[in-house]
Amino acid sequence: MTMIPYGRQSINQSDIDAVLQVLHSDWLTQGPVVPRFEQQLADYCGAAHGVAVSSATAALHLACLSLGLGHGDTLWTSPNTFVASANAARFCGALVDFVDIDPTTYNISIDALRQKLRSAQQANALPKIVMPVHFAGNPCDMAAIAALADEYGFSVIEDASHAVGAEYQQTKIGACRYSDATVFSFHPVKLMTTGEGGMLLTNSGAIREKAARLRSHGVTRDLDGGHGDWEYRQLELGFNYRMTDMQAALGCSQLQRLDDFVARRHELVARYRQLLQHPSIALPETTEGAYSSWHLYVIRLLDGIDRKRVFERMRESGVGVNVHYIPVHTQPYYQRLGFHEGDFPQAERYYSEALTLPLFPDLTDEQQEYVVEQLLQAIS
Ligand SMILES: *Cc1c(COP(=O)(O)O)cnc(C)c1O
Repeated sequence: MTMIPYGRQSINQSDIDAVLQVLHSDWLTQGPVVPRFEQQLADYCGAAHGVAVSSATAALHLACLSLGLGHGDTLWTSPNTFVASANAARFCGALVDFVDIDPTTYNISIDALRQKLRSAQQANALPKIVMPVHFAGNPCDMAAIAALADEYGFSVIEDASHAVGAEYQQTKIGACRYSDATVFSFHPVKLMTTGEGGMLLTNSGAIREKAARLRSHGVTRDLDGGHGDWEYRQLELGFNYRMTDMQAALGCSQLQRLDDFVARRHELVARYRQLLQHPSIALPETTEGAYSSWHLYVIRLLDGIDRKRVFERMRESGVGVNVHYIPVHTQPYYQRLGFHEGDFPQAERYYSEALTLPLFPDLTDEQQEYVVEQLLQAIS
């Protein structure tokens, strides 16, 4: 039996044709399609600039560097995320700390953030950057985070790896109305794909310029040092974090389909909601006034149901359930940095009950009914 995965890409003939067109052209990388993709996604989100890169991890790293994060600085993020969110700060030599989650949205808790900021101010240890993560595609309360950013003077990077196509206060995530930069991932399990890939969105010309330069070795061609037309100048130590034109062509094509992808996810979520009325299953809730992109459909198994057993039984029957996320502070690497189990109890409690069910645009109604049937059997 082939496994129904928890998430997967949807590729159609137009996607394939778009990539083939680049393969027949003069440029496989650093051609005209990357800037086109950047412009199209920035326009879609209502942001001034897009900087396309090789992954969201690279985009998070560049966002941190462009905001000046370095040794002696601290970044705060949610423990309920993929390790890349926290790692981005470690790449810059900065310290990481976490803020516990809200037990209803599984996003960073605004109350916990406010309290932690108050104590950090007294200890003269305020963060330079706070990185909220729009978990499962459900937007964080960005207005509240921006108000705290004003009060305490930190920068904000949205890790929107789950949230391209989502909206907050009738504005697309990526507009950066309440943040300095927003980062998307185009890994195949995310909402739209370029194979590997990511993008940084910002309204700041300075952040755009710095991130674009660091993406390509810290080199610029916009400087006349008197050499001649071949001249390039390395101004700082950068990376090769470039996206190829083949990837960007797939991105442009997928962007045309994004709204349909998210609409289908909403349909499937409405069906899960109907099919999963069960006293021992907690269904996910979304932030008031927000439109989730529904990257993940995470339920919680209550009343002491053995999550591991349910997971194994469903995998055996061909349902590729998953778990998002093992709290980052409990990873061996972060434990070595001084974090302990028990540090962020809401995230740990959530993790002990969470189970991610399949959700992706090409999931059929019949497959979904099979998933529900297997789940209800596994918990009975
Ligand atoms: C997937 C993911 C990333 C990393 O994305 P890549 O494109 O694979 O580098 C970062 N943060 C979160 C929350 C993610 O889900």
